[in-house]
Amino acid sequence: MLTVEEALEQILSRTVPLQTERVDLRGALGRALAETIVSRREIPPWRNSSMDGYAVRAEDTGEVDLAVVGRIIAGTLPSRPLARGEAMRIFTGAPLPDGADAVVPQEDVEASDSRVRLRTRVDPGAYVRPAGEDVRRGDVVLEPGCRLGAAEIGFLAALGYRQVRVVRRPRVAILSTGNELADLGTEPGPGQIPNTNTYSLMAQVLEAGVEPIVLGVAADRLDDIERRLDWGLSADVLLSSAGVSVGELDLVREALVALGAELHLWKVSMRPGKPITFGSLRGRPVFGLPGNPVSAMVTFELFVRPALLRMAGHRRLHRPRIAARALARIPNPGSRRGYLRVQLSRDGNEWGARLTGDQGSGILRSMILADGLAVVPGDTVVVPGDTVEVLVLRELMS
Ligand code: AMP
Ligand code: MG
Repeated sequence: MLTVEEALEQILSRTVPLQTERVDLRGALGRALAETIVSRREIPPWRNSSMDGYAVRAEDTGEVDLAVVGRIIAGTLPSRPLARGEAMRIFTGAPLPDGADAVVPQEDVEASDSRVRLRTRVDPGAYVRPAGEDVRRGDVVLEPGCRLGAAEIGFLAALGYRQVRVVRRPRVAILSTGNELADLGTEPGPGQIPNTNTYSLMAQVLEAGVEPIVLGVAADRLDDIERRLDWGLSADVLLSSAGVSVGELDLVREALVALGAELHLWKVSMRPGKPITFGSLRGRPVFGLPGNPVSAMVTFELFVRPALLRMAGHRRLHRPRIAARALARIPNPGSRRGYLRVQLSRDGNEWGARLTGDQGSGILRSMILADGLAVVPGDTVVVPGDTVEVLVLRELMS
């Protein structure tokens, strides 16, 4: 059996970013940048005022009266340079006139139409935003692999990029297998259970920022599994759940091999999980996840999500990990490493972790409550007060 790290290493060593494409900046949120962005502009383009007030020469200031010789609003240029003993009315964002080197906020003066009375001296540079204080022309501002969030997108707009080159998003074909599965829209008959994995995996794929394609439910028959996987060959990744264990009806591996897949790994020492298949089929990664709903979700988190992020061009592939204090016992019986569902709560300067409930791999309810997965070595009981490492799955509210 492989360790989680060995399995992940095998998976990532066989996963590469897809080709690139240009997208409209308005649709670029969450995508991985595929070009180096060098600033072709100076931001801000000229010295400007950070306050509404009066543009002055710092050396003229003190307890003095200055003549107001102009008015500069944002979006216009000063009509002439500022001479000694003069001030100009100026508004936030408006360019400073030549000769001026400071702004006195309007709150600090007494003003009439033609004159302004200052109370104190001001330093050169006061309330002036220098040209290029944010970015200079030629600065490297974003690098390939960076995830485009709100700040990056705002920045690209500031630099004039209407379109941007990003890595293509993988399409992931999702197959559920099992004679017992009744798909959504069908009432489960005798001996049947509802198909959950298609929907949780679809949502996980979407959360990872990539595109799901649903292949439906295959019966535990080679021809049905093969036929549906074959439909999935239009996708960049195949993802199935169930049917990868050792029972006679566990046919997913056989179906993959029949289609020409090369399988690289099968068993990983973890709980939940263990049977997970990873292989390559005509150049695309294929994953056979275990069938139990929690096992499918957890193995997706640990193995599939990082692979999808890499294919989508991202540099950061992994969820954050934090150290938390156990608030109650977290036992991990058995020799496999545990990824146990925990709820996190803020306790002073620390995070506290407690199990969300029964850890059976079919108990999806305890996944609903889980903020993260506590990583616990085999045959270990974490006792209250111990520190435990937690893989954080969702945004934490403190
Ligand atoms: P298997 O690996 O095929 O033996 O499946 C393991 C367990 O997961 C069995 O109890 C299955 O009924 C259950 N299971 C498999 N696929 C799904 C699914 N799509 N939705 C819900 N439960 C599933
Ligand atoms: Mg089955």
